[in-house]
Amino acid sequence: MTPAPSAAEAVLAERPLTGRTIGILALQGDVRSHAEVLESLGASVKRVRVPEQLAGLDGLVLPGGESTTMTLGIKREGLADPLREAIAGGLPVLATCAGLILLDDDHLAVVDLHCERNAFGAQLHSFECDLAVDGVDGEPVHAVFIRAPRVTRHGAGVEVIASVPHEGIEAGDDPSVVAIRSGNVIGTSFHPEQAGEPRLHMLAFAG
Ligand code: GLN
Repeated sequence: MTPAPSAAEAVLAERPLTGRTIGILALQGDVRSHAEVLESLGASVKRVRVPEQLAGLDGLVLPGGESTTMTLGIKREGLADPLREAIAGGLPVLATCAGLILLDDDHLAVVDLHCERNAFGAQLHSFECDLAVDGVDGEPVHAVFIRAPRVTRHGAGVEVIASVPHEGIEAGDDPSVVAIRSGNVIGTSFHPEQAGEPRLHMLAFAG
């Protein structure tokens, strides 16, 4: 007997993003895995390297990678204000890992939050876990953390949709915030695309 499809497989089989064009900021970082998830959901993918390529998008991924390198690229290409305007104007966004850092008050300052970079210390440099995420139905999300940030401050308009215990880093710490929603923006410390997990892309872009 064939096993029942998982929630993630069922979403992929429906190809619910057919007809949508989703951009991926493609200055550096983990562009290809996001493109694979988006294409398997039926979306057309457009790599964004210059401001003109933001036109006509139905959504935008800010991928993981190295936030310092991406910030330099954003400056070089004159992308900071166009990105701010697009995001503040309501373009649906999924920001993962370094992408989440780009949104914070030290970077584009387009979502009211602050990230601590590489927040999980040497021992937990990279780790994986199964995580309940508010708004994602079915089985937990398999979350891959790679030198991941955590959200250490967020404004009232920012909803926490996932957190992990932060024991052993500083005893008595509150759980670390690792996923947020702020209006049209979903941000995660982890990489859903590395686990072939399509439901965060759905949460961001299928509304
Ligand atoms: N540590 C990286 C940074 O600070 C983020 C890592 C990632 O995106 N996987 O930019």
